[in-house]
Amino acid sequence: MAMNVKNCRKCGKMFNYVGGMPVCPACREHAEEQFQTVKKYVQDHKTATVPEIVEDCGVDAKQIQQWVREERLFFTEDSPVKINCEICGATISTGRYCEKCKKDTAHNLKDSIQPAHVEQPKTVANMGKQSSRMYTYKK
Ligand SMILES: [Zn+2]
Ligand SMILES: [Zn+2]
Repeated sequence: MAMNVKNCRKCGKMFNYVGGMPVCPACREHAEEQFQTVKKYVQDHKTATVPEIVEDCGVDAKQIQQWVREERLFFTEDSPVKINCEICGATISTGRYCEKCKKDTAHNLKDSIQPAHVEQPKTVANMGKQSSRMYTYKK
């Protein structure tokens, strides 16, 4: 079986890549812990600025931005942290686009995205060969 090994983007260690972000399980877990810390912090400190979050939670501003883009981290209206729609500039609480632009881009994506490459049914053929061989050996 071909293993897809990658270097972790955070710590550089080799790990068995299974998809998503190229980050090893240890770093992924660490990031998740950080996320929970920040999420709780933002809930408790609704008026905290990004530099305050960075200092009190010990996370990267870039990491915070990424969580916002992934729509995992929300800032309330009381928050001085303002996120703007990347298309029209409207103030939003999370993500990259406002609801209106999100709808528009989703519509555009649907039209422009090509169908994903079709997997060849290699494994099925191999398995068929293997089982018939096993049968012969048993006999
Ligand atoms: Zn790592
Ligand atoms: Zn917009």
